[in-house]
Amino acid sequence: MSLDVAGLRRSFPIFSRIPPPFHYLDNAATGQICAAAAEALTGFEMAGRANVKRGVYRLADRATQAFAEARGRIARYLGANRPEEVILTTGTTFGLNLAAHVLEERLGPGDTILISRLEHHSNIVPWQMLARRRGARLRALGVTADGRLDLADLDNGIDRSTRIVALTHCSNVTGAVTDLAPVAERARAVGALLVVDGAQRVPHGPLEVSGLGCDIYALSGHKMFGATGAGALWVRWELLETLPPFLGGGEMIRRVRIEDTRYAPPPHRFEAGTPPIGPAIAMGAAAEWLSGLDWQAIAAHEKSLTSRLLTGLETLPGVRICGPRDLQARFGVVAFEVEGVHAHDVCQMLDAFGVCTRGGHHCAQPLMEVFGTVATVRASLAPYNDAADVDALLEGLEQVIRTLR
Ligand code: PLP
Repeated sequence: MSLDVAGLRRSFPIFSRIPPPFHYLDNAATGQICAAAAEALTGFEMAGRANVKRGVYRLADRATQAFAEARGRIARYLGANRPEEVILTTGTTFGLNLAAHVLEERLGPGDTILISRLEHHSNIVPWQMLARRRGARLRALGVTADGRLDLADLDNGIDRSTRIVALTHCSNVTGAVTDLAPVAERARAVGALLVVDGAQRVPHGPLEVSGLGCDIYALSGHKMFGATGAGALWVRWELLETLPPFLGGGEMIRRVRIEDTRYAPPPHRFEAGTPPIGPAIAMGAAAEWLSGLDWQAIAAHEKSLTSRLLTGLETLPGVRICGPRDLQARFGVVAFEVEGVHAHDVCQMLDAFGVCTRGGHHCAQPLMEVFGTVATVRASLAPYNDAADVDALLEGLEQVIRTLR
């Protein structure tokens, strides 16, 4: 059965509030909030607000339960073995920084952290900082000409000095999906941990994180149609139990004396202070709502829109696609350049047609270097996009090209 896109759009409050033309194609930056998440957020803030894990009155107890339920819903969406494997964070960036800190003791001089040139800065800079702190080396796997992780580089990239491998599951520039299985196998063979940046993968359907072969998986709620300000870090339980705390403060302790502290068990050990309660509850609601969608139909829909977009771009003069042109192992994130026109100018002109796209380096400067540029335009699709959105982009681009080239 084909996807009821109009019905899906009705589940997103923004589409009835912003008058046409409105073609939102910046979903890789942030997805729109679904009604389930918006209602959960306002429900908590307006009629359920109390701090969690401390009050004994009924309102506080309900808030604590709602927060715990959110963790359970996110765990189910991710396919975690148990909810306690999920640390609630403020987003992918926070999660990856948390990982880089709690893994610090496992790294020493001469050890290697392996990343790739495909990474978002938030999966580069924390590892660079960790490598500097520990006197370790940072190496980066290469990228193929069409913007995929170069797995042929794997044998050179992973060796006995490798302690941590940190890779994106899906590129926020090219949409390419990383085949994690061979990486996990090679990492396991040398005793390295595999950390995955799942920010761009999670909006595209539930997953089986326990079966991916990775040890740590980071995600953001706002990219999977929740509120801004919440995220999660999944850590394989056997590893999580052994990790030291990250931030110190309230709620991550069992008992504090002036001399020393005994820490709470995971995940609370990693959740110091008041968490982003409302956004976490909204993220849980989004995860639950997403779990109920027909992902086969959505995948077919997104594939056909991606194909329409790629084909349209290829026919326009002076447009260079920076990423795969095929539909294999990719999502609908498409970056491109218009020869002789700055990406920001393209995006600004597209805005006049109601088309929202992103222009810039997309927090992936090492990848921009691979493409020999400093900035591209990026269009990124979500299930609620339709052919009219893609066509508006292509028609707008035609005008841009006619006017500015
Ligand atoms: N990783 C990837 C692949 C991303 O696309 C992004 C955001 O665009 C991030 C990490 C950072 O996510 P956040 O800003 O939600 O922490």
